[in-house]
Amino acid sequence: MIYADNAATTRMSDAALKTLIELSKETYGNASSLYTLGQRAKEVLEKARADVAEAIHAQPREILFTSGGSEADNQAIRSAAALGKAKGKTHIVSSAFEHHAVLHTLAKLEKEGFTVTLLPVHGDGLVRPQEVEEAIREDTCLVTIMYANNEIGTIQPIREIGAICHAKGVLFHTDAVQAIGHIPVDVELDNIDMLSASAHKFHGPKGSGFLYARKGIRLTNLIEGGAQERGRRAGTENVPGLAAMATALSEAEAALEERAVVTAAKRDRLIQGLSEIPHSALNGDAKKRLPSNVNFCFEGIEGESLLLLLDDRGIAASSGSACTSGSLDPSHVLLAIGRVHDVAHGSLRLSISDDITDEEVDYIVRNVREVVEYLRGFSPIWRDLCAGKKEFIL
Ligand SMILES: *Cc1c(COP(=O)(O)O)cnc(C)c1O
Repeated sequence: MIYADNAATTRMSDAALKTLIELSKETYGNASSLYTLGQRAKEVLEKARADVAEAIHAQPREILFTSGGSEADNQAIRSAAALGKAKGKTHIVSSAFEHHAVLHTLAKLEKEGFTVTLLPVHGDGLVRPQEVEEAIREDTCLVTIMYANNEIGTIQPIREIGAICHAKGVLFHTDAVQAIGHIPVDVELDNIDMLSASAHKFHGPKGSGFLYARKGIRLTNLIEGGAQERGRRAGTENVPGLAAMATALSEAEAALEERAVVTAAKRDRLIQGLSEIPHSALNGDAKKRLPSNVNFCFEGIEGESLLLLLDDRGIAASSGSACTSGSLDPSHVLLAIGRVHDVAHGSLRLSISDDITDEEVDYIVRNVREVVEYLRGFSPIWRDLCAGKKEFIL
């Protein structure tokens, strides 16, 4: 099988898996216990915190461990909202193509009396810093814009947006789940106040993540109970998982540039091959995107059918998020960049890793081309397009 769905989750690296297994076997003590086994677990946990902090140029005390990206997003946004509300500031700026962990949290806050401005995303898959600036009001308590989009891979102008927020005295959070471990992220240079990350997106285990919150930002608990994580997140720490996350991140950081170059070359080979399919289009800017991400729309087909047929041919890919959401609506991300419904339905996301070979890339291109042709062969929309009853968009 060719695994091309790394934006959904990644295979654990051997080193991360080794950390997970060895610590589960040997260092199973409760990090809050005073005997040696517990203290050993505590040391491992704090070493993991220091390693994670170093990777993004933060201080260890600014790292709060969580169960993943969704929890970190929820806690960051809830915390900024609570801080804002205490000062009478209840306006939040975000974008239309955020992950649902952000969008659904914002929708809940709207029900609680907050006002949310969702900025448009342009056809190139990018948010404009100037529009962020214009959206900030006297009562804005938070700007939250993702670092890189999970569907189309576009990398946002985070540093400029962060600078604008700081000049205006507004907290800036970024969902960096797709960026961490793949492209350089530096919370100081990038002017970031809060950042969410998740281990399973960079070859670490599922169920481990972290929230960076700049020193002095008081976090609101989502989980009450014991005094773990300096009283900000209760529950016995997942020491093996968090340490395995740190192993995976250190590994990813050490190889970051080298892997990015290799992966981007495969990405561009994929883009080149797929763009030769008639009536297709790449979604999002060709260069300002993650080295791993390829996302195309093919006119006249259904993305779900495409991906099921690709699965039969041993290719694991993804198409928007229509299936998982249980609705027939096409991806909110593709709609946000201006794709019309019919076109957005025919999308394919391939998210690769540096271990993919040129032969595998060519196999994917060949099979996507064949399956698209096959599906168009009995698509009523395609028939109408060819008969001139409908206009081609792509
Ligand atoms: C995967 C993902 C999340 C959710 O992370 P989990 O660890 O699975 O909860 C949030 N944001 C983005 C951009 C993601 O890609």
